[in-house]
Formats: sequence, structure tokens, C-alpha cells
Amino acid sequence: MNKSDILFDYKHIWHPYSSMINPLPCYSVISAKGVYLKLKNGKNIIDGMSSWWSTIHGYNHPILNKSLRKQIKKISHVMFGGITHPSAILLCRKLIKLTPEKLDCIFLSDSGSISIEVAIKMLIQYWESLGQNRTKILTIRNSYHGDTFGAMSVSDPDNSIHKIYNQFLPKNLFANAPCSNFHEEWNSNDIISFQKIIEKNKLNIAGVILEPIVQGIGGMKFYHPMFLKKVEELCKYYSIPLVFDEIATGFGRTGKFFAFQHANVVPDILCLGKSMTGGTITLAATLTSRNIANTISNSNIRCFMHGPTYMGNPLACSVAYANIKILEKNEWKTQVFNIEKELCKSLLPLINHPRVLDVRILGAIGVVECKQQVNLELIQKFFVNNGVWIRPFKKLIYIVPPYVISINNLKKLVNVIAKSLNENTLFI
Ligand SMILES: *Cc1c(COP(=O)(O)O)cnc(C)c1O
Repeated sequence: MNKSDILFDYKHIWHPYSSMINPLPCYSVISAKGVYLKLKNGKNIIDGMSSWWSTIHGYNHPILNKSLRKQIKKISHVMFGGITHPSAILLCRKLIKLTPEKLDCIFLSDSGSISIEVAIKMLIQYWESLGQNRTKILTIRNSYHGDTFGAMSVSDPDNSIHKIYNQFLPKNLFANAPCSNFHEEWNSNDIISFQKIIEKNKLNIAGVILEPIVQGIGGMKFYHPMFLKKVEELCKYYSIPLVFDEIATGFGRTGKFFAFQHANVVPDILCLGKSMTGGTITLAATLTSRNIANTISNSNIRCFMHGPTYMGNPLACSVAYANIKILEKNEWKTQVFNIEKELCKSLLPLINHPRVLDVRILGAIGVVECKQQVNLELIQKFFVNNGVWIRPFKKLIYIVPPYVISINNLKKLVNVIAKSLNENTLFI
């Protein structure tokens, strides 16, 4: 890759949440191994982001690569309409075994946002089948469920990056987010707003959707498990299906295999994505109870009306299966536990830094909430110059490192964050 390639990228290629006029600089990565990203200049930097929560076992993983090579020799892709294949069956058997007994049917799709669209369509069709026209989805403030229209409509309209599209979005219901943090005492007032809205709209709500325990892009907050418990009770009482978005939190990130396991609750619909393929190829899944699946299938049209071209892609299914097999060795538990322990030791004390408002840690997630916004361009450069890859947003500097990171490398990530806090120019 030479200078003209970078210039071409700068002039012609959109990057996530970016502009085509003077976009922030992008760093060119030519390869990666373990927790290291190799830059064009040959320098290795430590990845603190797992490529947005996905590369949990590190890059270029021999077992994941092997499963891809093995599959590519057989078949890379085949349509899923009227055709099935061993990799999809193997993966879906595994997902059904890993998730609560209630979740019995799987819809595979191409990305996290689409798995949310699928869940919303299922909710609408479920009620249609029961002869009810229910059109509202209830969620909470600070939520984030993806970038497609249905997903945007259940993401916080004020706080969210989707504000500009508000005119075009269906209006859903937003209860106050709980204030009780994960590690604090439960404040029973936290459920009042949710309870009021669900009572008032009980005949119009098609479903409730939540990110269990961890609110991601909406503020990196960890809320109290009792909130989920109360939500589950209310959903059961009013017979309203409960959807959990575990796209970011699933597969061990919070210290439990699924974040909802912190609360001993079970959803009616579960969305999975991000780390499901270990950060190799995009794949997502929407799991439902038999009751929901059967009710949908009893609707007037008797089918669920969704079917992406690359549904059940064999390469993605086979590598997801291999990824889950690695998780089943159960090393992730110790890895995540050790990351949490180290973060409590070295990241938590940053709470005393004058620039810092709060430090939050849960499993392999570490968050430093600053009092000011970061200057993204400058802080990104600072991090890269100091040998790490961390991508903050707004006031939040957070890390979600690969589970395989060594304690030494984790300490380096934390040290560079600590160092950045002393640089006035990196903050606005
Ligand atoms: C990333 C994310 C999504 C969207 O997934 P994509 O694969 O980016 O479409 C949805 N919900 C949550 C909680 C996420 O973190």
C-alpha cells in the first residue's frame, strides 16, 4: 500500500460515521496476529477494541482459519431458500444447546442490526397472527440497537447518533433508564417509569427490547440486574414478549456467557452477533421460543417474511461453530476474570484523576468516563504513537480487549489511557 492508495481511500471511501469532506485520518493495517495490529510502517500496536467487540480470541487464529479453509474447499456459499447444509445445522444445534431451553428456533442473518429488524418483524407478525394490531416497541433511554431503520427506532432518539432521521422513524416508547448501577444497591424507583408506560400501553405494545446489563454506544453504563428481573415480571404479567439484544454482550464479554445470566431471567427472543464468528465474518442470529415461532407460522401468510441473500452463509456458520468450540474449552472464564481483576487494580484508580468523572468495569469491559469530550483525531494519534489501538467516543475512553490479551499488554493499554488523561490538548 502506497501513499496514493491512502489518498484514494481518503477521497473515495466512506468509513463508519464519517464525512467525505476532510475525514479524520485512517490508519492502514496490513495484517494482524493475536492482539497485535500491524500498521503499514511495520509497527505493531495492541488492540484494545477487539474490532468492536468481535475478535475475542485474537486475530489470525489458527483454529478459526482452519475451519474457514476446510469450508472453502467444500462450498463458500449456497442459497438458503430450499437448501440446507451441514455447517448451518451444526451451528444452530450448538446455539440451541447453549441458550436457555425456551429458545428453540433460529433465524440466521447477516448482521446485528438485521437480527434486530428480524426480531421487530417477528413481534409485529406474532401479534398480527393473534388478531391484534400492535405497533409499539418499548425500550429504555440510552439504548442502542443498530443503524437500520427498525433498529434506529428503538435506539434513544435524543442521545442517539440517529437523531437526524427522526422524521422518518416509527415512534416507539422509551422508559427512563435505570439509575442503579450494576455494583450498587437496587433502587426500587428505577422500575416506575417502565411500569407506568407498560401499564398505559399494554394493549398496543408488541414487545420490549433491551440490551441486558450493558448499555453500549448509548453511554457504556452497567445497570442493576434487578431491573431485568422486574422487566421480565411485568412482561410476563402483560403477556408481552421480551427481546434481549446480546449482540455486544454475548459470548462471555461481561463475565457470564450471556449478560442476562447475571439476572436469572430468560428472554422470548434473543439477538446475537458481533463476536459470534470470533471477528472473522459477519453473521447474526435471532432465536425465539417455540410459541412465538409457531404463532408467527400460523399467521395468514403462514410464513415469516424475511430472507437475506447470504442467509446461513456456510463460511460464516462454520467459523462461528469453531469459535464456539473454542469458548467451550471454558478458558474464556479465567481470561475474562483476569482481565476484570487487572482492570480493577490498574484502571479503577483513575477515578481519582481530576479529568475523570467515573470509571466502570464489568468482565472484560473497562470504561473511563471523562468530564470533557475527547478530540478524536488527536487522541487516536496519541494512542497509535504510544503503541495501542483504542477508539473513544464523546467523553468515553473504553476498552474491550480480546480475551487472550496478556496482563502485561493490558497494563500497557491502561498506562496509555492514564497518560492520555494528562494531555490537555487531547480534550475539548
Ligand atoms: C453493534 C451492535 C448492534 C448492531 O450490530 P451490527 O452488526 O453493527 O449491525 C446492535 N446492538 C448492539 C447492542 C450492538 O452493540
